[in-house]
Amino acid sequence: MKEKIRAQRGTKDILPNEEYKWNFLKKVFESTAKSYNFKIIKTPVFEATELFNRSVGETTDIVQKEMYTFKDKGGRSLTLRPEGTAGVVRAILEHGLCNFMLPLKVYYLDTFYRYEKPQSGRYREFFQFGCELFGSNLSEADAEVMHFAFKILDELSLANYIELKVNSVGCSRCKKKYFHALHEYFELKKSALCQMCLERLQKNPARILDCKSQQCENISLNAPITLDYLCNECYQHFESVKDKLKNLKLKYTVDPKIVRGLDYYTRTVFELVDNSLGAQKTVCGGGRYDNLVKEMGGRDLPALGFGLGVNRLLLALENHNIKIKKDDNLDLYIINVQEDLRSCAVVFCRVLRENFISCECDLLGRSLKAQLKYADRICARFVLVLGSEELEKKEADLKNLKTREIKKISLKKYEFATQIIKILK
Ligand code: ATP
Ligand code: MG
Repeated sequence: MKEKIRAQRGTKDILPNEEYKWNFLKKVFESTAKSYNFKIIKTPVFEATELFNRSVGETTDIVQKEMYTFKDKGGRSLTLRPEGTAGVVRAILEHGLCNFMLPLKVYYLDTFYRYEKPQSGRYREFFQFGCELFGSNLSEADAEVMHFAFKILDELSLANYIELKVNSVGCSRCKKKYFHALHEYFELKKSALCQMCLERLQKNPARILDCKSQQCENISLNAPITLDYLCNECYQHFESVKDKLKNLKLKYTVDPKIVRGLDYYTRTVFELVDNSLGAQKTVCGGGRYDNLVKEMGGRDLPALGFGLGVNRLLLALENHNIKIKKDDNLDLYIINVQEDLRSCAVVFCRVLRENFISCECDLLGRSLKAQLKYADRICARFVLVLGSEELEKKEADLKNLKTREIKKISLKKYEFATQIIKILK
C-alpha cells in the first residue's frame, strides 16, 4: 500500500461532525457585527511580503520568525497573511474606501498563518474573527470596539470567564521615550537575558516583555511601564477611554504590561483573557493604530481594531463545558422500496428542496432495511416510503421517526410539498 500523506504540523482539518459549531460561531459573529454595523471585507490569503514587513514591523517576532514567505513562479516574494490588519489597510487604500464615508467599519473571518511551535491554542493555520474601524480618534470608538469584542464572548456565555485588560502605549513620541527607558533598563540586566532577548535588546527592547522564558519574565516584572511615559494628550485619551468603558458598564483592569506583539499599535491596547486556557490565554487582542494608514501611503487617519482567535474561543467553550446546540436534523429521508423507484425518489427530493425542505434519498442502491437504518443514523425527522403501490394510489406514508406517528401524504404534484411543509412545521 502507498504511504498516506498527513496534514502538516500545526494544521487541523475541520470535519463534518463539527460543522454545527462553526455554523453557530459564524452566526454569532455575523449578527453581532450587524448590530454594530460592521460590514465584511475579504482580502487575499497572500500579499506582497513587503506589506507585512512595513506594517507589522521588521523587528517583531511575526516578521522575524513566523511568516510563511515564498517566491512564486514569477520570482515575487509573497507571504501568507499572518494577521488581518495589514491586508485590510492595503485594500481600503487601494479602493479609496476611506475617501467616501467615515467611519469605515469592516470585519473578517479568515485563516491566518504563522510558523510557530504547535501546542494547545497555538497552530500554524488558525482562524481569527477581526474588525477594523477607520476615521475616529474619539475614546467612544475605543470603548465601542472593546465592547464589540466583549459582546461576542457574552453571546457565547463566556463573559463571566473573561477579563478585559487595557493599557495605553502612547503615540510615536511617547513610544520613543519609553523604548529608550526600556533599553536602559534591560541594558543593565543584560547578563541574565536569553540569547533571543539580547538580539531584541538591540532591535526592539519592547519585545523582551513578550518573552516566555521564566528568567526574562522575572526581569520584565520591574521594567518601566508605558503609562509613565505618556504625553498629556495620550494620558487624557486613556483617561477618557476608561470613562467610556465605565459608561458602557464594561469591567476592565489596567494592565501596564500589555504592549502587544505588533509595532503599529499606538495609544489604547487591550486583551480579552481567559485564565483557564493556560499559556495561550489571550483570546482576543487589539488596539489603536493611528499612524498605520499614513505609513502605508494613505492620509492621516486614526484607526483601531481587534483580532479574536476562533480556535482559542472553541477551547474556552470546551473548558467551561459550554455546549453549542447541534443544527436541526435533516427534515426528511425518502425511502424507495424497489430499485426502479430510486430515480423517482430523486425527483421528489428535487421538488422538496425547491420548497426549502432538507432531504435525502438513497444513492447507494441499499435495501429497504438498510435505508431505514441509515435514515435513523442520520437522525432524519421523517421518512417517506415510496413503493409502486403508493405511486399508483398517489398517496404515501410519512412517518415521524421520533413519535412513530404516520400520516398519509398526497403524491399529487400540487399537494405533495404543501402537505409536507404543513406537517414539518
Ligand atoms: P500570543 O501572545 O498568544 O502569541 P499574539 O499577540 O501573537 O498572541 P495577535 O497577533 O494579537 O496574537 O492575534 C490575535 C489573536 O489571535 C490572539 O489573541 C489569539 O487568540 C489568536 N492567535 C494568534 N496566534 C495564534 C496561533 N498561532 N494559533 C491560534 N491562535 C492564534
Ligand atoms: Mg504570537
